[in-house]
Amino acid sequence: MSSTPSAAASPATISNFIRNIIEADLASGKHRSIVTRFPPEPNGYLHVGHAKSICLNFGLAQDYRGKCNLRFDDTNPEKESEEYALSIQEDVRWLGFRWDGEVRWASDYFERLYQFAIELIQKGLAYVDDLTPEQMREYRGTLTEPGRNSPYRGRSVAENLDLFARMRNGEFADGAKVLRAKIDMASPNINLRDPVIYRIRRAHHIRTGDRWCIYPMYDYTHCISDALEGITHSICTLEFEDHRPLYDWVLDNITIPCHPRQYEFSRLELHYTITSKRRLLQLVNQKHVSGWDDPRMPTISGMRRRGYTPEGIREFARRIGVSKSENSVDMAVLEAAIREDLELRAPRVMAVINPLKVTITNADGAQAREADFHPNMPELGKRVVPFGKELLIEADDFAEVPPAGWKRLTPGGEIRLRHSYVMRCDEAVKDAAGKVIELRCSIDHNTLGKNPEGRKVKGVIHFLACEHALPAEIRLYDRLFTVPEPDSDRDVDFCKHLNPASLTVVQGWVENSVKDAAPETRYQFERLGYFCTDRRDHQPGGKLVFNRTVTLKDSWAKEQN
Ligand code: ATP
Ligand code: MG
Repeated sequence: MSSTPSAAASPATISNFIRNIIEADLASGKHRSIVTRFPPEPNGYLHVGHAKSICLNFGLAQDYRGKCNLRFDDTNPEKESEEYALSIQEDVRWLGFRWDGEVRWASDYFERLYQFAIELIQKGLAYVDDLTPEQMREYRGTLTEPGRNSPYRGRSVAENLDLFARMRNGEFADGAKVLRAKIDMASPNINLRDPVIYRIRRAHHIRTGDRWCIYPMYDYTHCISDALEGITHSICTLEFEDHRPLYDWVLDNITIPCHPRQYEFSRLELHYTITSKRRLLQLVNQKHVSGWDDPRMPTISGMRRRGYTPEGIREFARRIGVSKSENSVDMAVLEAAIREDLELRAPRVMAVINPLKVTITNADGAQAREADFHPNMPELGKRVVPFGKELLIEADDFAEVPPAGWKRLTPGGEIRLRHSYVMRCDEAVKDAAGKVIELRCSIDHNTLGKNPEGRKVKGVIHFLACEHALPAEIRLYDRLFTVPEPDSDRDVDFCKHLNPASLTVVQGWVENSVKDAAPETRYQFERLGYFCTDRRDHQPGGKLVFNRTVTLKDSWAKEQN
């Protein structure tokens, strides 16, 4: 089936240079359909930067009715694990994408990669080198000086074939020899100065076990894997721009019918956090966070546990766009996308995080009232908002001496209790230290579901009836770091910038209607923010645990004003 690009792109799509290239390739007939891939290394959990790459690669395949592969780049056995590989698949699926066919692994191609290496040797384009890593560095030259040829560069094809076979057979120690592409030691591009394409490493591999003791290098593996899969557009981040000549060199010099084109875009950097698997692993290992899925982590599993939605993350990816210029984005952009998505879909309930007790002195005859879970989504249903003689309100919603413009509760003042009566504060009861510990209030019985007569009541506050409120553990998250670019100074450990107040756990109260919520249920707690039941610790009908996903407003922006 063919599709015209303009019909494929949804109206909300923001064009970018990669889409332009694809559209031109489809229009010219260079490709009848496109194949992209997402090629993570299973050496950690995916983060928000990967989410950008996933949305790009899978999104292009969707929009242009092509295919996108999930391929693990599993060429570094020591760092890779099954746990990581499984988490990556789960994250991609959770984000809402489906890869074409089975999951693919670079290790599926080890035998073919080996055969292509033999082809390069036979063509005099690869050789076995015995230099030590230090010597190789020395021979490589610098950005300003050309490198020098290794003394082993002139080995005969026969000798190279023999040595390479013996490398595979395990006759040499780890690191004793490497296979290098024979390109140009004087190239201004250091990547072309006879790059290593195979090394000896006796490490157990998650897929191939101990079958191999030589492993192909990333640059060599990646282009061939792309070609074997018929990838049309191989999209990667800008740090690979200088590797593109090597990508092309390998494919130009082996017998393979397909030559994918590599295109580079800029990586996402998100302020107040870190987008590097290595750094995130450090946070986990040093126990600065509870794990890869700690809700403060910028990992996909962390964002999920915190309550972010796949739709919100995809919208974020759409808004930040794809280009070659710096993509350093404030957390507020991500939070806004999440908030806007939750606003549309999350049922609204009441919770009290910092309670102040209210006694209603004229509660006799007061009634409960039904209320919608969402003003614009009647399909979410209704629940009963109970009333009672004892209520809880948010301590912040009362001020004995109110600041100018105060619309909440104050002695002698009236407010509307959300979904309930208009209430007046008659008296603030204090403890010996002068702290307000209770309010004595009265309601206007004539105001349930209607406006009071003869006066306007402006403020609305949320509340809970004590008798029906349930205790809940509430986890309030703030940014993980106190500075926008925690990893910008090479001389300072980024952990120095961890925000000590990134997690506050409080005991709060929630309305009864959430009692049986499954893990990962999202709500708006009216006036407080969006919250999500914890995937790990929340027990429906038992211990209730809520994560604050995001506040209702961007509190950081306010502070800066
Ligand atoms: P990290 O530096 O965090 O380890 P990586 O690039 O080594 O990331 P891979 O598993 O190789 O991690 O990444 C898979 C894909 O995701 C690659 O195509 C890579 O370019 C892309 N990617 C990784 N980080 C980002 C980012 N911050 N922004 C956009 N794309 C990214
Ligand atoms: Mg990588």
